[in-house]
Amino acid sequence: MRHAEILENIVASIQSCMPSGKDFIALHEPSFKGNEWSYVKECLDTGWVSSVGKYVDRFEEMLREYTGVKRAVAVVNGTAALHICLKLVGVERGDEVLLPALTFIATANAVSYCEAVPHFVDSSHLTMGVDPFKLDAYLHDITVVKGGVCYNKETGRRIKAIVPMHTFGHPVDLDPLMEVCQRFRLELIEDAAESLGSFYKGCHTGNVGRVSALSFNGNKIMTTGGGGAILTNDEMLGRLAKHLTTTAKLPHKWEFNHDQIGYNYRMPNLNAALGCAQLEQLPDFLQEKRALARTYQKTFARIEGVTFFAEPDFAQSNYWLNAIQVSPKYSRLRDEILQVTNERGLMTRPVWKLLCDLPMYANAPKMDLSVARELERTVINIPSSSCLGAIYV
Ligand SMILES: *Cc1c(COP(=O)(O)O)cnc(C)c1O
Repeated sequence: MRHAEILENIVASIQSCMPSGKDFIALHEPSFKGNEWSYVKECLDTGWVSSVGKYVDRFEEMLREYTGVKRAVAVVNGTAALHICLKLVGVERGDEVLLPALTFIATANAVSYCEAVPHFVDSSHLTMGVDPFKLDAYLHDITVVKGGVCYNKETGRRIKAIVPMHTFGHPVDLDPLMEVCQRFRLELIEDAAESLGSFYKGCHTGNVGRVSALSFNGNKIMTTGGGGAILTNDEMLGRLAKHLTTTAKLPHKWEFNHDQIGYNYRMPNLNAALGCAQLEQLPDFLQEKRALARTYQKTFARIEGVTFFAEPDFAQSNYWLNAIQVSPKYSRLRDEILQVTNERGLMTRPVWKLLCDLPMYANAPKMDLSVARELERTVINIPSSSCLGAIYV
């Protein structure tokens, strides 16, 4: 087949999965078809818009129930949730924290907020997230475990934790990753910002890590405008998460008493009201997104030059952002697809630049990143809003 024909087929395939008669299709737009207006209006009518009000408690309870964790703490955004997660497991100044080179900037920035050092690891073709087997071999080479603490032999620094990220909602292979954490005495924090509604072997993502972070930014599977949450199965850490994110204030009717440096990271009631209404619809969003993904998968099965990224066997994914991967033998094709689709009002996007290539992380330690590099060059996100899947449910 001629190159131009391959390109045209791919663009036509995306187009064929879209509803007709629209001149612009966003990559991901929110959907407000439930109780959003009524819950938000109630906040305005009663004056409970800010840091106190019933929706925060209700939202936390709904999240706890849906994800199956013991405690959920709602916060201002996903980055703040990650920051507190790192603090909760004891990441301190000068520690190294392992995280994928292929992730959104927030994962690394949260490590920097703790004055710790991000240490970038490679991804797996199967999940686009951390490759536990390659990581195991790497840590075997470069670390030594002494007195229950893992040290990087090259930098002398303690390696305290790892933050895997469930890329576009596809869970990483958590069982072998947990074994790596046990072998090298690492704390596990899941960056589940993209994976609300995604399950690993039947268990909701965010349950395996000692603590985990969710995001409800406007582009995520559900939104609170801006927002996030900390999940944990450790009651003590859950209480501490609440304390740290509410300025570490000791409860008292009138006195201002704080027992450490806390943070003003609490989610406002107004945002939590939106969150309750959105979370009520999460099962519908998931059904629509999975139906859209199935349609893409069937369509791309017959198309030359690209493969559709499907969930691994051990996972049930939320398909937050659908992804196709251009065959590495067609090197120009990725940019051509991006160009033509965006010209025609179909919003598509490449993945993030690897974080180790950004100026502030250029000198951070890293392992061989050949798979992450290949994903960076070849993956494209395609339109994924839940409303696009509604016609396939
Ligand atoms: C969205 C996201 C976050 C958190 O983002 P906020 O905008 O701060 O809520 C963190 N990590 C990843 C991988 C994300 O996609």
